[in-house]
Amino acid sequence: MKKIVLSCCAILVAGFTFSQTIIHRDIEIEKMVNDVSKDSLQSYIKKLVSFGTRNTLSSTTDPRRGIGAARNWVLSRFNEFARQSNGRLTAIIDTTTLQKDGRRVDTTISLGNVVATLKGSDPSDDRIFIISGHLDNMRSSVLDRTGDAPGANDDASGVAAVMECARIMCRNSFPATIIFVAVSGEEQGLLGANFMANKAKQQNWNIEAVLNNDIMGSNNSSETNIVNNTRIRVFSEAFSVLDTGKAIANIRNLGLENDGRSRQLARYVKEVGERYVDNLEVVMIYRNDRFLRGGDHTPYVQRGYAAVRFTEMNENYYHQHQDIRMESGIQYGDLIEFMDFEYLRKNTAMNLANLANLAKAPSMPQEVRVETRRLTNYSIITWKAPKQGKVKGYYVVMRETTSPVWQKKIFTVGTSIQLPYSKDNYFFGVQSVSENDNEGIPVLPLPGR
Ligand SMILES: [Zn+2]
Repeated sequence: MKKIVLSCCAILVAGFTFSQTIIHRDIEIEKMVNDVSKDSLQSYIKKLVSFGTRNTLSSTTDPRRGIGAARNWVLSRFNEFARQSNGRLTAIIDTTTLQKDGRRVDTTISLGNVVATLKGSDPSDDRIFIISGHLDNMRSSVLDRTGDAPGANDDASGVAAVMECARIMCRNSFPATIIFVAVSGEEQGLLGANFMANKAKQQNWNIEAVLNNDIMGSNNSSETNIVNNTRIRVFSEAFSVLDTGKAIANIRNLGLENDGRSRQLARYVKEVGERYVDNLEVVMIYRNDRFLRGGDHTPYVQRGYAAVRFTEMNENYYHQHQDIRMESGIQYGDLIEFMDFEYLRKNTAMNLANLANLAKAPSMPQEVRVETRRLTNYSIITWKAPKQGKVKGYYVVMRETTSPVWQKKIFTVGTSIQLPYSKDNYFFGVQSVSENDNEGIPVLPLPGR
């Protein structure tokens, strides 16, 4: 049995001109997506702003003001959500002591990431999916730990998205594990993300995807007056640090420079995000991050994991890393009044849809190969069942070599397929599909004989 499903994103890319398309939504995911509440998001951000400053160097002992009070509050909310989780969600503040570095850290600090883990329901499934936002923030000077720094958009927006996903998702169960993290020390140089990515690498965590949310809840640029709440950017790097030697030779020989792990994840989140969230386009940016800026996905990318960054379409630099002030009639500062909570709702829902679809999907098919024994205009692709998860079948996806997104999905229950399309002219991939049609990240076939 074969069923051909057009990928919905190919349709949306063409300026919202719909032609015939089938969009399968998993009812359980659709329900969770509909539960994302802009009122919840707004209440989290109001509370986060109320801590005055969340600078990483600010007080960790003051009960009302500073990073310590903020992280205790996030922990208390995670613990509150956990009561609905049948004991599967647990939260901690994961701390480490850092010495001054003479640049962005001028004293010994206790750095703390607030980490909530929703344990997977399948004990044999060791996959981990991470959603991240950064709790800390800054004024014009990164060392200014006392003045007011609301940080409503950078990055209470990302933390609010993380919290809202945790609130909703912990009431459901997923075979794989999901980690919700509010990171510290981002503005001080990605310190919290480095701490966590390092631990992940040392302890051999099987992380399949990291979704980093940073500045994703405001919709306009003051400079150019562009207002846009229907588009969000996903940044992804093409290559991986693991691409060395033979892997690099393969990339060059096979033209795989647009199919690295993070890029593949970006393509996936675009498709799944647009499937579940109406009036939102996920715009792939073919670079790891913006000019002059960094983000918490990068420590994971640097350790070979698939990690992407979500950021709003048009950033407003009057509102980022600025002391609150009026100057030449311009209001500076990262104030809550500049937030667009409907836009943040859509962007949060897009994250949730992706996390849920990934964590419900079986793991990736193994040993995916395209036969290259002889010259033929057919393509024969073979694979083996994934290590973890129950598989209903597989999607074989294909796209032209110049297409940014998959253009065709063919469902099959077997572990091989012969297609009347030349492997010279298309890229192919294979995705494992669950009983409820949740598909995993595509695996590209390597040449096989
Ligand atoms: Zn940020």
